[in-house]
Amino acid sequence: MEPLIYELSVPGRVGVDMPEPDVPHFELPENLRRTEFHFPEVSQIDVTRHFTRLSRMNMSIDTNMYPLGSCTMKYNPRVNEDAARLNGFAQVHPLQSAEGTQGALYVMHALQGMLAEIGGFAAASLQPAAGAHGELTGILIMRAWHRSRGDNKRTTMLIPDSAHGTNPASSAMAGLTVVEIPSDARGNVDLAALQAHLGPDVCGLMMTNPNTLGMFEEHIQEVCDMVHAAGGLVYGDGANMNAIVGVVKPGDIGIDVMHYNLHKTFSTPHGGGGPGSGPVMVVDKLAAFLPGPVVRIRPGSDTDEENDGVPFYEWHTPAQSIGRMRAFAGNFGMLLRAYTYIRVHGEAGLRANSMNAVLNANYIQARIKHAYHAPFGQDRWCMHETVVQGKFEGAPDIKALDVSKRLMDKGFHPPTNYFPLTVPEALMIEPTESESKQTLDKFCEAMLEIAREAVTSPELLKNAPAHAPVKRLDEVKAARELVLCCKIV
Ligand SMILES: *Cc1c(COP(=O)(O)O)cnc(C)c1O
Repeated sequence: MEPLIYELSVPGRVGVDMPEPDVPHFELPENLRRTEFHFPEVSQIDVTRHFTRLSRMNMSIDTNMYPLGSCTMKYNPRVNEDAARLNGFAQVHPLQSAEGTQGALYVMHALQGMLAEIGGFAAASLQPAAGAHGELTGILIMRAWHRSRGDNKRTTMLIPDSAHGTNPASSAMAGLTVVEIPSDARGNVDLAALQAHLGPDVCGLMMTNPNTLGMFEEHIQEVCDMVHAAGGLVYGDGANMNAIVGVVKPGDIGIDVMHYNLHKTFSTPHGGGGPGSGPVMVVDKLAAFLPGPVVRIRPGSDTDEENDGVPFYEWHTPAQSIGRMRAFAGNFGMLLRAYTYIRVHGEAGLRANSMNAVLNANYIQARIKHAYHAPFGQDRWCMHETVVQGKFEGAPDIKALDVSKRLMDKGFHPPTNYFPLTVPEALMIEPTESESKQTLDKFCEAMLEIAREAVTSPELLKNAPAHAPVKRLDEVKAARELVLCCKIV
């Protein structure tokens, strides 16, 4: 085990010179003062080595292929970072006046417009901090719309079993009752089951398309029409938009509200690389309910001769807004990165990225499906990801988890395991457009080798990972006896 930074501590050792304070000295009252501090006492080189060591223990998109299904772990282009680091943006404060922040407001206004345009929607809010937060926002908008029409009885959300787990969670958080709709044998929503559940209690349907089986919903138009005919709205979980940007506009098909994950489709970093961002787009009739404030052009400013028709950007809270979902304007640094990504690629580039993402996933599916059963990939193309099964004839003890652990030994981050829940021993593989054919080939060869090893030397899989800094964890213990901070002795 690597030493904790506290274990490197030696009393009296320091790594910084604090500058003389440039503000007046102020004596805190005695009762507010702490006398003991548990800071590690370390030198600069201790700290540098410690964090460099930790960073090397990480698997990341900057070091290895990261085919984690549903997460769209695409490359985060460095030009995004250049834009986000520009002084005028990086130093801007959310409480500055609109007059002093026209550049930042311009970017947000343009991004609202581009995201709405890409999805086929009328308006957008950039506030939500991630995908699941966008879901909650969208559901609250749907609920508010029904209520504004005096329709207070719509308390049920229909959710296909091929949806992401956050969908039922967000619906429950918004106070709705969740009813699951099964999939049919081809991985589509079962239309008869949907029809049976439609009624005056239905707030709407929440669907992920392409769904978590990596399949485009073949009856999407019919599904939307059925829900609308029953008085409901359709929520589109846009987390899988990387498959269809520039090809399909969900708003044109009948989706009423949708979120994007900028940290997936629009190349902003995941996790440790920065916060997420989950903008929400809506059709025209829902625009008045968006969380406020959003950015708009001050009415008349763009035709005003006095300022030469230069538009003035300002904050505006829509008339029937559900209110704020978050402090300030959203994760602005992420908005800048996504804006940069869209502007660098343009319409043709974004479409090419989606098509390459789909091509890459199908290439993998085609190369490995004789060794890994692809339950929905036998007679269908997949979209941006393929779901296969980590179980083999002649290797009864081998599970999907063993395949994933062995992949780590071969230098790949594992795919998503045991999701979707409807596929036993699921391995969900999403290569994204970022990977070259050479890397895809290496990945496929590793997968095929593991399938052979599963039969000939299963212990290699059972004992994997052999080279990772942390071996197999006791996942039950980790969940039951969670340790959230290191103990200072
Ligand atoms: C990632 C994902 C979400 C949740 O998004 P977060 O940004 O992680 O909150 C929702 N639905 C699908 C299909 C996803 O892949």
